Amino acid sequence: MDFNQAYSSDQQAFRVAVRTWLEHNAPKGLRIPPDGRPLDEETQRTVKDFRRQLGAQGWLAPSWPREFGGGAMSPAFESIIMEEIQRIDLPSMGDNNRWIPAMMVWGTEEQKRRYITPALHGETITWQAFNEPDSGSDLAGVRTTAVLEGEVYRINGRKHYITGRFDPDYLWTLAVTDPERPRRLNLGMFMVDARLAGIRIETQRLLMGSERRVYLEDVVVPADCLVGLPFQGWEIAQTILESERGGYTLRGNEDETAASIERFLREERERS
Ligand SMILES: Cc1cc2nc3c(=O)[nH]c(=O)nc-3n(C[C@H](O)[C@H](O)[C@H](O)COP(=O)(O)OP(=O)(O)OC[C@H]3O[C@@H](n4cnc5c(N)ncnc54)[C@H](O)[C@@H]3O)c2cc1C
Repeated sequence: MDFNQAYSSDQQAFRVAVRTWLEHNAPKGLRIPPDGRPLDEETQRTVKDFRRQLGAQGWLAPSWPREFGGGAMSPAFESIIMEEIQRIDLPSMGDNNRWIPAMMVWGTEEQKRRYITPALHGETITWQAFNEPDSGSDLAGVRTTAVLEGEVYRINGRKHYITGRFDPDYLWTLAVTDPERPRRLNLGMFMVDARLAGIRIETQRLLMGSERRVYLEDVVVPADCLVGLPFQGWEIAQTILESERGGYTLRGNEDETAASIERFLREERERS
């Protein structure tokens, strides 16, 4: 059986057009540290500018609806764009998109426009900040709290092993909204503006690579950044984990992640 994908002449012509556009517009000579450290400011700016150019054409999510910043294209055209982008040496951005399918399911129309459209236009970066020092596999055990005070929530907690090479605009995070309710029915899902007072981010150097630690200390967020009901966070997390663990989601290229691990190991061997 032949598993190779066959492209029509229209699609092949489109591939040539995409490749030519990328050759002219993709950034060259980027400084991408192989160990996963945050990118320097200039590299971030260059890549973000390029992402905005991709997003303006709907190329960050080619098969998604245009009203949310997608390209409204068929899967074959999407594959062509993704394959051509993957030929370029760019820092991995796969983690930036994981929340979007869940926001499509659970967000209000206003929230979808507020968060998804700028993300697919390449204007915002969102980290998925779920994991905590005492709740990894046992995600329902998160200890971060979000206490409702009138029109705002006050959030306190710590998130560890969070992936993000670009400075974030948002943190997509789980917190306990009602400690009196049973496990899994006591969580809320929040989209937190990452520049709010009380948020501190550190780099966590690992044996192989590095991740981030996020500290939230008395972070006051408007109540409308809660997605779904105050006790639906667990259900929403399942939507994300289902697509992360093999369902269809926005495609992210992890080839560069694998290549960067290989580069890191080579450099470590040369150093020792
Ligand atoms: C490179 C990297 C990037 C990451 N990026 C992110 C990110 O962007 N956002 C984020 O939220 N998190 C991130 N994480 C965290 C990741 O979600 C957690 O590492 C993961 O949930 C596992 O948690 P843990 O490391 O605390 O392991 P633990 O939960 O302590 O588990 C350790 C081992 O015990 C096993 N185990 C645990 N409980 C049981 C049980 N009940 N029965 C049998 N076996 C069990 C596990 O399978 C595992 O093998 C990242 C982690 C890494 C390593």
